[in-house]
Amino acid sequence: HATKKTMADHLRKYEQLFTLTPQRMRMITQAFSEVLDNGLKKHNQVVPMIPTFVFGWPTGNEVGDYLALDLGGTNLRVCLVSLQGEGKFEITQTKYRLTEEQKHDDGEKLFDFCAECLKTFIETNLSTVSEPGANVSFDAEEKDKKSVQVEQTESTGHTETLLQPGQQLPLGFTFSYPCDQERIDHGVLIRWTKGFGAPNTEGRDVAEMFRKSIEKLDLPIKMTALINDTTGTLIASHYVNPRTKIAVIFGTGCNAAYMEKVSEITKIHDLGLNKSETGPYSEMAINCEWGAFDSHLHEHLPRTKYDQIVDETSNKPGEQAFEKLISGRYLGEILRLVICELIDEGVLFLGQNTYKLEKPYCFDTAFLSLMESDPTDELLMVIGIFTHFFALETTLAERQFFRALARLVGRRAARLSACGIAAIVTKMGYLDEGCSVGADGSLYNKYPGFADRVHEGLVDIFGDKGRNIVTHHAEDGSGVGSAIIAAMTKARK
Ligand code: ADP
Repeated sequence: HATKKTMADHLRKYEQLFTLTPQRMRMITQAFSEVLDNGLKKHNQVVPMIPTFVFGWPTGNEVGDYLALDLGGTNLRVCLVSLQGEGKFEITQTKYRLTEEQKHDDGEKLFDFCAECLKTFIETNLSTVSEPGANVSFDAEEKDKKSVQVEQTESTGHTETLLQPGQQLPLGFTFSYPCDQERIDHGVLIRWTKGFGAPNTEGRDVAEMFRKSIEKLDLPIKMTALINDTTGTLIASHYVNPRTKIAVIFGTGCNAAYMEKVSEITKIHDLGLNKSETGPYSEMAINCEWGAFDSHLHEHLPRTKYDQIVDETSNKPGEQAFEKLISGRYLGEILRLVICELIDEGVLFLGQNTYKLEKPYCFDTAFLSLMESDPTDELLMVIGIFTHFFALETTLAERQFFRALARLVGRRAARLSACGIAAIVTKMGYLDEGCSVGADGSLYNKYPGFADRVHEGLVDIFGDKGRNIVTHHAEDGSGVGSAIIAAMTKARK
């Protein structure tokens, strides 16, 4: 008869399920690269390879005051950015809380709320030069103040910005969901991602919707550019570090952007764009929306049954297949599902009440970070997480198992990301000369060893030459990047 399995025995099973061999990674990279190419040639592909109408790199000499509003995930953020040229800038920003209800409330209301936050921000941070007789100040009487500030205004020594009567500040609107654009100040939402689901928004021009909300409040703002955070990150990182050729976001979602030759984006050649190899309009940033890689057909990525459950119980089954294996929103949930399976099998927490752990999405990806960085032999941090948040007692063997499991899930995410980066590098021929990848998001910034694992993955795919590709912490794309793009747009008009 079978002897009782130890936690180490259980771990071996999960090691098999979650480990990616270099060979498998190269296959994924190859397939990924082909999918990226298809997205440039044809409309409505799984990975949409969205043309951003951001033409070429910034010079580093863009100057002036710009506003940026960032609607991208957990919070809503408003920034005032002073570009000072030579790759320098100052920024003042405030974050506002966004509730789950607001993410699923009517789209129009969501944009009205964004405009209200802008109004609050302007009233706090911008002074209007008053002229005798001319009343250009805002209605200071706020009867119904709905915007809830979650963080004090942060500033990098901003000198006070004065607004002349009648002056309109250019605003870059960072809207980090896949949109079809025909020009820089327009964008039709293809579909919500990252847990958003506001009705009456998909299929509509969100730039226009937001513009209407701004008009309702009569704000001194001209929205000049609709930007994806990933594109903003690409531009902001290049502004400061010109070796940057690719940007990747590892946050609630996962996405990448890079600069492509317009001559290669054949699906938009009918728009009458310049198809020559040189000149100011010969390159355009592409927002890959690579989180959608392998959606629906699931041909290329190794998915475990836990990944399938995550997918099936998500609000968008079948979609964002790559993202669901990588991004911060899902890693904790994947680990939780493994633990729940072992609870059901009677392996873990026998005799204890596990209801707190049975709630979907209760296990935050930040817990994986904490478990992996626990420096104590007893794994005191892991004890703390399970007792404090889930009222559960653990043995040392169990804690070691949880930590090892976190390592498997986190490492797989990093190595899959390496495949995506490698696909762009291969496609663009960056391997020999090397390049830098601007990366941002909590997963990249806070998960211990995440960047090293991406780098190891690149070496597994490319061999030694993989060392030519390095990631670095990106500049703030949705604030500074958005402002730079608003400035580039203005300069080219
Ligand atoms: P955004 O929502 O704009 O993408 P972030 O980049 O902060 O914002 O990403 C949020 C995601 O990162 C959440 O899914 C959260 O679970 C995860 N996260 C937060 N803190 C950590 C951490 N310390 N380690 C790993 N993941 C984290």
